[in-house]
Amino acid sequence: MENAVQFYDYTRPELVRLLGEWGSPRHVGTQVFHWLYRKHARSFGEMTDLSRELRGELETKAALSPLKLHTRQASQDGTVKYLWQLPSDAKGQSALVESVLIPMARDEEGEPSRYTACLSTQAGCRMKCAFCATGVPKFQRNLTTAEIVAQIIGMEQDSGTPFNNVVVMGMGEPMDNYENTQKAMRILHDPEGLNLGRRRITISTSGLLEHIDRFIKDDWPVSLAVSLHSADPEIRSRIMPINRSNPLDKLRKLMRKYTFVRRLPVTLEYILLKDVNDRPEDADKLAAYCKDLLCKVNLIRYNPVPTLPFDSPTEEKVLAFREQLKAKGMRVFLRERKGVDIAAACGQLGFENTPAVK
Ligand code: SAH
Ligand code: SF4
Repeated sequence: MENAVQFYDYTRPELVRLLGEWGSPRHVGTQVFHWLYRKHARSFGEMTDLSRELRGELETKAALSPLKLHTRQASQDGTVKYLWQLPSDAKGQSALVESVLIPMARDEEGEPSRYTACLSTQAGCRMKCAFCATGVPKFQRNLTTAEIVAQIIGMEQDSGTPFNNVVVMGMGEPMDNYENTQKAMRILHDPEGLNLGRRRITISTSGLLEHIDRFIKDDWPVSLAVSLHSADPEIRSRIMPINRSNPLDKLRKLMRKYTFVRRLPVTLEYILLKDVNDRPEDADKLAAYCKDLLCKVNLIRYNPVPTLPFDSPTEEKVLAFREQLKAKGMRVFLRERKGVDIAAACGQLGFENTPAVK
């Protein structure tokens, strides 16, 4: 259905209003919302507490997931990578985006019992960080709210397991797709739906200052992570071009504002790149930058991307970097590598499937 209304684009109040305009009482909008997010309906036909007429009407006027599963790959460590085909745009171009389901806990039989879901917000990325696979091919487009939300729904339906956490750390810069991502987060947060609390959704940004300021004012119901990767302006500008127009000192001020307003720590992500930002003086600069900032640091081992000129430091160096920060009293975590064998780890997304599909 070309012109069908995408229900996953709608927040609950919007859905209630829309169905009201189509002639249904208020409670029907909420009922449909429950079917979408609590009961995981795959079709309008399953929504058995709606009248037969309404179900028929919805089938002709509305649509559920806009995503088509293109490929599903499972890693030896239980990580599952989903490749979704997006609907074609006005020029008839389609694109592929990825999401990843990462097992975080296992039951007595060793089967995953809890997952973190990692979502994409754009097909490609305009930030072009030097170390990241997503920024390599040409930027294609922003995802719609429905395309962001439907990644979660699709993974939940496929795996049959609800997840406890969502991280917006897949392909794209979420703040560069501000409105659609914000709405998607409000939908995931809605207590009448998936009911994911603020601490269970983390959004990661490369640090677009204006957008972060707006994000604080708009009070997105999520936690904030910032990709720092260096506390040295010259090094950061080299590996993250956006640092030139979004400098570190202003970024720090904004992060402080966030921690004051929300009373939550900000997470700083720091990929360790061999001979680029992994020296003892880099750790010192990071510690100095974090002084008086309510934060925790996630150290990330660099995941290799073919054609990009970066390497991961030795394990010894990684641990020494962590210890140096710990010795200064910082909260530091070393992220476990997941899904590397299927290129589903951070920064590897989008490399194998760069060409657009027709
Ligand atoms: N655009 C956002 C969110 C997506 S990237 C951002 O940059 O924060 C999610 C995380 O993966 C970021 O911290 C990013 O810097 C990191 N990342 C990118 N390429 C990586 C690579 N090759 N190895 C490890 N982490 C990488
Ligand atoms: Fe974009 Fe994030 Fe990759 Fe940078 S690290 S290119 S901001 S997806």
